[in-house]
Amino acid sequence: MPSTAPPYCGRFAPSPTGALHFGSLIAAVACYLDARANRGRWLVRMEDIDPPREVPGAADDILRTLDAFGFEWDDAVLYQSRRTAAYQAALEQLQGHSYPCGCSRKGIAQQGRPGAEGIIYPGTCRAGLPAECEARTIRLVTPDLPIGFMDEIQGKIEQSIAQEVGDFIIRRSDGLFAYQLAVVVDDAWQGVTHVVRGADLMHSTPRQLYLQRLLSHPAPGYAHLPLAVDATGSKLSKQAKALPVDQKAPLPALLAALDFLHQPLPDEQPATLEELWQWAVANWDIKRIPQQQTQSIPLS
Ligand code: GLU
Repeated sequence: MPSTAPPYCGRFAPSPTGALHFGSLIAAVACYLDARANRGRWLVRMEDIDPPREVPGAADDILRTLDAFGFEWDDAVLYQSRRTAAYQAALEQLQGHSYPCGCSRKGIAQQGRPGAEGIIYPGTCRAGLPAECEARTIRLVTPDLPIGFMDEIQGKIEQSIAQEVGDFIIRRSDGLFAYQLAVVVDDAWQGVTHVVRGADLMHSTPRQLYLQRLLSHPAPGYAHLPLAVDATGSKLSKQAKALPVDQKAPLPALLAALDFLHQPLPDEQPATLEELWQWAVANWDIKRIPQQQTQSIPLS
């Protein structure tokens, strides 16, 4: 019987907060190979919706590195900074499930209990903004229900957003749209069917699944990669390997990324990037990636 599933579409969605480092190269390599091995499309989306965290020139630098490494993306790069009308429309669609919140960080820190990702918002403004309060953020009402998914690498993941995160922000106090909202709007708009990314975002996935449900968007499949950490367990981004990958030496960095992902390596170093990519697509097997959320690499 012919399949009714939409054809595979993957994406790489870097934030331009710095040059592409080894940790982000791993994510780029994995989502690219998974798309190409499934004869799918592969998109690049620049997640430039957080100007205070951005580094001037980083977006172009990331794209130049991807190009130098032989990644070939389908369609033009989508810039989230140009998508505010779509995020605003989603925000309006979520009225009835969201509310303005006037709480300050300090107030929340005093009243909330610690959760997986900082303090859990205690729901102070859920029943209405107190009279003396001005709206700062917009939050989503979250259900106390387990939201689960089958991660292609990590297996079954389940979370009660209410218990572990609380009503979360969809528009920030500086007026910017939250990552959780933007990523859901754009994954749906771009027709993304498969999300392959670092395990640091695994605990965001139930929030994204819940937003997809409210916005009537289809849920993509998810695969979360182990994060590269050093021997002490510190996230790589703070370590020497977080140095930008060398645009002039793509082959060794790509081979190191394949090795990190437990993919087989060719017996001899390929002569060209094209040869390496052909080999890597032909030998890609996502099931070889270890089921763990971090993996240490030796610092060199
Ligand atoms: N922009 C996010 C980051 O660089 C990734 C978002 C995603 O893959 O969902 O961490």
